[in-house]
Amino acid sequence: PVGLIWFRRDLRLADNAALYAALQQCKKLFCVFIFDDSILAPLPHADRRVEFICQSLAELDGDLRAACGRQEAGLITRRGLPQDIIPELARQLGADAVFCNDDDEPAALARDAQVAHRLRAMGRSLQRSKDHRIFGRDEVLTQSLSPFSVFTPYKNAWLRKITPFYLSSYPSERDLAARLADRPEGERRPVPTAAELGFEAGTLDGLKLPTGASGARELLDDFLPRLPRYQAARDYPALKGPSYLSVHLRFGTVSIRELARTAHASMQREDWDAAAREGAATWLSELIWRDFYFQILAHHPHVVERSFKPAYDAIVWDSGPEADALFAAWCAGRTGYPLVDAAMRQLAGSGYMHNRLRMVAASFLVKDLGIDWRRGEAWFAEKLNDFDLAANNGGWQWAASTGCDAQPWFRIFNPVTQSQKFDPEGRFIARYVPELARLPARLRHAPWLAAPLELAEAGITLGRHYPHPVVDHAAAREKTLARYAVVKAGD
Ligand code: FAD
Repeated sequence: PVGLIWFRRDLRLADNAALYAALQQCKKLFCVFIFDDSILAPLPHADRRVEFICQSLAELDGDLRAACGRQEAGLITRRGLPQDIIPELARQLGADAVFCNDDDEPAALARDAQVAHRLRAMGRSLQRSKDHRIFGRDEVLTQSLSPFSVFTPYKNAWLRKITPFYLSSYPSERDLAARLADRPEGERRPVPTAAELGFEAGTLDGLKLPTGASGARELLDDFLPRLPRYQAARDYPALKGPSYLSVHLRFGTVSIRELARTAHASMQREDWDAAAREGAATWLSELIWRDFYFQILAHHPHVVERSFKPAYDAIVWDSGPEADALFAAWCAGRTGYPLVDAAMRQLAGSGYMHNRLRMVAASFLVKDLGIDWRRGEAWFAEKLNDFDLAANNGGWQWAASTGCDAQPWFRIFNPVTQSQKFDPEGRFIARYVPELARLPARLRHAPWLAAPLELAEAGITLGRHYPHPVVDHAAAREKTLARYAVVKAGD
């Protein structure tokens, strides 16, 4: 049989479940990636992710050609709607089956159902494999076989269920050379660049963001020596604490099995001390959060539009010109709260935001500015390189207290004490809000509390060089407690 491998969020050859499934069943294989117009159309003109994908695909294409030593065998790329292109391409290539890795996002499920339907009508099949998470939607369930909605019991069940079987890699590069077929003549175009797709070029320039499977390897090699210190460093944005692998997990340029296997083995290493093993266990726990939110989205797709907990849909958020102005200040990193502003500027400038800061910035939007979490979620979705619907929605609903196992509604981060705690020397603030760098560190967290002389010595006039706080935290806190009172009864 002939197979067509449809790459989507799995842009690598190593340990790729769909590729392995195809190799098991087919003598001859073609590979395709489709630039989906329904995904590209709403994106802004400058989008780092498009460039990340193009560069990663160029590497994948090179890896395919290198695997078999023939230029003719490589990645087919098309642009349009997969629902139209995949069945047509399968017919042209004489492919009996199309292989891909599954995706539980509602839009992806609808798309795949259409593709499967059309292929079936042509006597062909769509075969889906589980690849980008360790456990699928129904693999970790409660004793009564229902999905978990609280993280800790989910994690405990996850850890009880894990065995080498779930963590081992698919030998998806073995036999590849012999099976890859040459692309038809008309399909031998090089992978398009972002500019050729109509997007701005150079959006990744100057960022330390290596792309493709080799980029993921580079980041992983850099991170593993830091894994023993992960627990101690992860909450401090000025430190190089986390792995920065999220964008690679998003686009599948790294295998989740490899990461989870490494973390799982490291947390049991006898040559590591307890703190180092704890670092590995905490990192694994973060990877489990990822699985957790995937299964939440799969079982509760209403979260895309509404609160996980229906009672929270009764909350009335601020709207109108004043709220719009506050939202704009938040997006621009000009709220007058330095840590929040530093976070938002990191996002705008790099497409990355540290996890601690995602929590602080999200909480600030919802609980200090009184703005609907969905507006913040959409802003993150547009800006984050690693934007993943399940994790982003989960993170926002956590911060807004509307989610499963969320921050309790009456817990409201104080943006100043968060700053003092997690950026104690104000180093992160100085990096992203350089207009405050001349202030002594202790004053960078709340410059409005500085004495006029201290501000003058740093050459700062509030309202001119840096904004006054757009809201008073204590007053905002009271307003938020009142706003959330509508859910008190149901909580
Ligand atoms: P590391 O600390 O090295 O963690 C390793 C991996 O674990 C991450 O790459 C990620 O895949 C996963 N992970 C870590 N924390 C979480 C978490 N809380 N939930 C789910 N997975 C997690 N993560 C995304 O991948 N995409 C998003 O769109 C996203 N949006 C978020 C929005 C908000 C409001 C919040 C609070 C969190 C969000 N996160 C999101 C989770 C987390 O902030 C990022 O995964 C993390 O900061 C990525 O950096 P890293 O790769 O260096 O993380």
